[in-house]
Amino acid sequence: MRTITLNAVRNLGILAHVDAGKTTLTERVLFATGTTYKRGEVHDGTTVTDFDPQERDRGITIFSAAVSCTWDGHRINLIDTPGHVDFSDEVERALRVLDGAVAVFDGVVGVEPQSESVWRQADRHGVPRIAFVNKLDRAGADLDTAVESIRTRLNTVPLVVQLPIGAEDGFVGVVDLVRMRALTWEDSLEEGPVPETLMAEAQRRRRLLEETVAELHPEAIEEFFAGGLSDETLRKALRELTRQGAGTVVLCGSAYRNRGVEPLLDAVIAYLPSPVDVPPVRGVDGEERRPDPDAPFAALVFKVNATANGRLTYVRVYSGTLHKGETVSVEGRAERIGRILRVQADRHTPVDQATAGDIVALVGLKSARTGTTLCAPTAPLLLEPPVSADPVVSVA
Ligand code: GDP
Repeated sequence: MRTITLNAVRNLGILAHVDAGKTTLTERVLFATGTTYKRGEVHDGTTVTDFDPQERDRGITIFSAAVSCTWDGHRINLIDTPGHVDFSDEVERALRVLDGAVAVFDGVVGVEPQSESVWRQADRHGVPRIAFVNKLDRAGADLDTAVESIRTRLNTVPLVVQLPIGAEDGFVGVVDLVRMRALTWEDSLEEGPVPETLMAEAQRRRRLLEETVAELHPEAIEEFFAGGLSDETLRKALRELTRQGAGTVVLCGSAYRNRGVEPLLDAVIAYLPSPVDVPPVRGVDGEERRPDPDAPFAALVFKVNATANGRLTYVRVYSGTLHKGETVSVEGRAERIGRILRVQADRHTPVDQATAGDIVALVGLKSARTGTTLCAPTAPLLLEPPVSADPVVSVA
């Protein structure tokens, strides 16, 4: 297996209002990345991430399941965050372990109250985001209106990097304004030149994007006034603005029709940070831990599920390397790690080790709960104040 370096990892969450299309988008991402071979549909209860029967019945995502997939040589660890207001605590926990997120909006209604509150939670945790305006195939969907609601209700500067080709039922693709190429989906993704009929509008929007970026990014101003930004400068500025939280890259598509998923994954890789791009994690006593595989091991538990195969403890590794069979300190108690699992859709793949930046499930831990710190016995660290009681969620 190819080793993936830390800067090629993206710990990603998808944040959305209920019904915006998060489950559908997650399915399409898993399909596009070859993680699943059968496309799950929300309505027939076969989706992979919503594996709890209660969830299927209610059609909403309650539990944060973590799924790993690869795209363009990068590992994307997808942490499924619930969208329902009643499960805000779960969102909060998941946000704690993300390095970046995709916020999904419904292209007909734009920003909804729940998207606003999740957005603010992500602001508090300093999670860099990009936005995906979904359902552009629906009657009444309009990217510009949705973008305006992002600007006014989320108090961020939208950086729109695509122009839709066609609308509603005739929505067939997008013009990528960073590369000035047309991307269309018939059976699969096709790339080609920008259609003549859209060229003037695409150029106008590219100029607008450059202008907005130049206003926010001092290094880009000079180049802008000297004739315009190169694709390379534009991409670099968009990456930096995203990571600073100074603006929000906006993409669009239709998850249901499988349009817009590949460019979204490209944007995740291009703009959202890796574990080495984010500030080091800090223990409650102020000690910093860098995402270094050779540093002492430290990880945070963000989910515990009781499954038919035993108790699964989902952790985000912040520093060091954990080997299977090793003994770790679970807030002072020595416990042995049985198996280490990488979760790929409905499959759990045993791995020998997990290193800084990884999201994995551990088998064999008895006392770890959500919020518990795991660390090397020789280098104690506490990432969050100890938690008292926390119910273990049962998953069939
Ligand atoms: P979630 O609650 O955010 O996870 O949303 P779901 O993925 O369950 O989607 C909610 C509903 O919207 C389902 O009926 C989906 O089939 C539908 N949906 C999702 N994406 C799209 C889309 O791009 N276009 C259309 N027309 N419907 C969509």
